[in-house]
Amino acid sequence: MKKIYGQSRNENCYFCSKSATTLNSQGVPSCINHKENTVEKKRCVCGFDMEVKKGKYGPFFLCQNCGPKSFEKAENMDTQGFKLNKKYRN
Ligand SMILES: [Zn+2]
Ligand SMILES: [Zn+2]
Repeated sequence: MKKIYGQSRNENCYFCSKSATTLNSQGVPSCINHKENTVEKKRCVCGFDMEVKKGKYGPFFLCQNCGPKSFEKAENMDTQGFKLNKKYRN
């Protein structure tokens, strides 16, 4: 099958597995039941918090330490085994 560049993906609601029909206040794809939900901060692999930001090309996570991360990347981040940089340890 030929991939068409720029074709919109079939996006699912961030909060459940239904297909997304709208966006929440953060610009995150959501279903009608979850449009009032907000995505909470996530812990980056570096140990800092990442906040959801609304970007030109959709929402993304912004880490105070290492900069913007795509949603996909942030979601797939292995936060279980992350190693905190020594200087950030208490
Ligand atoms: Zn939903
Ligand atoms: Zn980071």
